[in-house]
Amino acid sequence: MSRLHFEDEAELYAHKAWKTLQLEPPVDLLKVASRLKIVVEEREFVPEVDGLYLRLPGAPPVIAVNTSYVKPLSRRRFTIAHEIGHHLLARRISPHRRLYFIDTPKTRRTVMERACDRFAALLLMPENLVRQYFRELAANESKRVAVMSSRFGVSAWAIRRRLRKLGLGVYSRHQSSTSF
Ligand SMILES: [Zn+2]
Repeated sequence: MSRLHFEDEAELYAHKAWKTLQLEPPVDLLKVASRLKIVVEEREFVPEVDGLYLRLPGAPPVIAVNTSYVKPLSRRRFTIAHEIGHHLLARRISPHRRLYFIDTPKTRRTVMERACDRFAALLLMPENLVRQYFRELAANESKRVAVMSSRFGVSAWAIRRRLRKLGLGVYSRHQSSTSF
């Protein structure tokens, strides 16, 4: 899977991670983080917080993810991938200055936040594999989303959203009945 053109930085970085680290689903996010020298802290925060990214001059960048029981594993994984997105996509923003992002379900959907979500989706669920599994599981339509979500280590909600983005979104009508 060699590609020359990428739609944006999110796509480029996700593709690069898969290539250089020879990733397999479900993506080992700690492997990706450690390659980037990011320290990942898992700890319990107040329920509003999903995670945060912190960059201080002269210290390793830190991602903290909320391990509260209200955050399922799939949600935590998406958060870590999103925060790795902050690290990569904010590289060019004043590299020598302090920088942090705190993510909550209410975080404003800025261009940066949307790009990090896109990076997370592409890192966790690469297009070629999504299409391949979607085809292979065609005969098992009732379990397709569940099987894919366990293979990629993401929520059913994330899979449905990804399928919709790729024009495979036959499940969109059920979207409101499930969450992360
Ligand atoms: Zn964010």
